[in-house]
Amino acid sequence: MISIKHLSKTFQNPDGSTLTVLKDVNCDIDKGEVISIIGPSGTGKSTLLRAINMLEPPTGGEIWVDGENIMAKGYPLDRLRRKMGMVFQGFNLFEHMTVLENVVYAPTKLLHVPLAQAREEAMELLKKVGMAQKADVYPASLSGGQKQRVAIARSLAMHPEVILFDEPTSALDPTMVGEVLSVMRQLAKEGLTMLIVTHEMRFARDVSTRIFFMNEGIIYEDGSPDQIFRHPVHSATKAFVNRIQKLVYEIDSDDFDYLQIHTGINRFCIKYNLGDKADPAYAIVKEMLFTHMRDQRPLTLRMTYAELSGETALDFMVEGRKDSPLAPDAALDSIRALSRDIVEEPTARGFRVKVLL
Ligand code: ADP
Ligand code: MG
Repeated sequence: MISIKHLSKTFQNPDGSTLTVLKDVNCDIDKGEVISIIGPSGTGKSTLLRAINMLEPPTGGEIWVDGENIMAKGYPLDRLRRKMGMVFQGFNLFEHMTVLENVVYAPTKLLHVPLAQAREEAMELLKKVGMAQKADVYPASLSGGQKQRVAIARSLAMHPEVILFDEPTSALDPTMVGEVLSVMRQLAKEGLTMLIVTHEMRFARDVSTRIFFMNEGIIYEDGSPDQIFRHPVHSATKAFVNRIQKLVYEIDSDDFDYLQIHTGINRFCIKYNLGDKADPAYAIVKEMLFTHMRDQRPLTLRMTYAELSGETALDFMVEGRKDSPLAPDAALDSIRALSRDIVEEPTARGFRVKVLL
């Protein structure tokens, strides 16, 4: 359905310098595929999506859609826009129109669908994304997750052959990410062709037929979710998919700021959607710092979260000792009750007590 050959994009900066963002992108996308594009920020993922629907015309290469070269002179862009829906990070709803009017607008204006029919269809789509009860309100009264679901319904109303999603959940409060992803999961199941730039690794692994790992302006590795996430060929892919998010505190003396640590853990858990881990984490940290490891200073406290496996842990690290700082008879029952496991192990520079949440 879409075939991209040697695509490149170079931006001209106002000072005359240039920046090549897409170097040589090649791929073929079939009908019904759900492709997630992952990769570090600044590697051209958004630019690629914007090039594919000609919002940002490429500077070299070819893009073929349904057998037509869309970069050829005279190719009608309105035809392309009908085939391709786009859902952005920032929703882009028409604020002066109700939810229903937002969905009805393009089909009536661009496809000349009769209003009654367009409304009926819009209500069906709003039902599908769980927003029918909000048909008559204005976007300003909706949450971010609700706005994004309306934006998806609006895009579907044009019956596109493919929808391009550019980080559809990254501007959302973490509590609303799930409702948008579940709508997208449903669309994937129904066979809609989707190209999704996302940093939601587990979502990408679960819904995609293929993953593109983009790095430095090219599709660095292209494969099944199993290949990219479990058996990547390139070390850069492996490093990216196994990224671990960390929160670190160095505790040098006894007058450390416990409140600051508590707040930090709270923020970390919100950011990575670890809601149910926050309470056990506070309790474990408190008991370790004030009881079992009270005499260990300096001590490094680290909270880690591996995005792909979901593994979350608290590390308590003491430098320069080879044996466990925990007393052999330490009463760890309450910590065991709040955790999956406690691992005591020497490291290159000292000793670590790891509590798996
Ligand atoms: P990603 O989506 O992977 O984070 P982008 O495609 O947004 O990356 O951007 C890649 C690079 O291109 C960045 O360095 C960005 O600053 C640059 N860039 C994007 N759009 C423009 C533009 N319109 N003019 C100049 N530079 C741009
Ligand atoms: Mg981007």
